[in-house]
Amino acid sequence: MPTTWSECTFLKAEKISPNTQLFFFKVDTNFSFIAGQFITFDLPVSEKRSQRWKSFSIANSSFDTNVIELCISHVDGGLATNFLFQEMKVGTKLKFKGPDGQFVFHEKNKDKNHIFICTGTGIVPCRSILITLLANCKSENIQHHLIFGTRFANGILYEEELKMWGNSNSHFRYDICLSKDPQRMDVYHGYVHQIYLNLYNDPSPNNIFYICGWQNMVDEAVENLKQLGYSPDQIQIELYG
Ligand SMILES: Cc1cc2nc3c(=O)[nH]c(=O)nc-3n(C[C@H](O)[C@H](O)[C@H](O)COP(=O)(O)OP(=O)(O)OC[C@H]3O[C@@H](n4cnc5c(N)ncnc54)[C@H](O)[C@@H]3O)c2cc1C
Repeated sequence: MPTTWSECTFLKAEKISPNTQLFFFKVDTNFSFIAGQFITFDLPVSEKRSQRWKSFSIANSSFDTNVIELCISHVDGGLATNFLFQEMKVGTKLKFKGPDGQFVFHEKNKDKNHIFICTGTGIVPCRSILITLLANCKSENIQHHLIFGTRFANGILYEEELKMWGNSNSHFRYDICLSKDPQRMDVYHGYVHQIYLNLYNDPSPNNIFYICGWQNMVDEAVENLKQLGYSPDQIQIELYG
């Protein structure tokens, strides 16, 4: 089937960490998506499709209309991110396809605990899903838990929002894990794996895991959860590369 492309217009960007920005786009036609999905841009950065087509998870809630919020980290020498951070101007129109992706909430799991394990911008689709989950969570027995890892404290994404959700929602908790920043005392130190290995070592059928980020972390988490006895249908992944 031929790929269907749409057009969106760049509205504005906001810096949220030394190398990460939120990017807001307006879609010129009707656009709907399921929280957790991604879009793929065709960027004017190369002749090669593999370099031009770059995917980004949608960060905002699916309740918003016709605005796409992306949260993107700049990669040194990266073709797509150089373009997005340095060349794109307010009003630039970009071609994109999507939404695509199966890293989404499934109705059959509505009474289960959702545990999100993510590093860096892997938090992005988890945030979108959590907005929907927390808005709809009615049962007192359900807990949603976000485990977020990054290297330094200044790379923690959406921290104010996580704090607010933690304070105002009895269904939600979050833990932050810094791998290269021993100074901050209110977080874990090291890698994200220690947290779920400790808290979820009894493979309850009520736990559903969402894992998002780069390959090494995702592979290790999947392997650990399988070793603990979780079945593949309790584990959903989104690989960034
Ligand atoms: C489904 C999906 C969703 C995604 N969602 C997001 C998102 O929400 N936010 C986001 O920031 N990214 C996301 N990505 C990653 C994104 O698509 C690009 O791969 C990333 O932005 C780098 O593209 P680039 O063209 O700038 O770098 P490239 O030109 O592809 O890479 C330049 C060099 O840097 C290396 N490299 C690439 N990425 C990294 C990295 N993160 N750390 C270290 N080295 C790297 C490459 O191996 C290469 O050597 C997603 C990927 C997928 C598949």
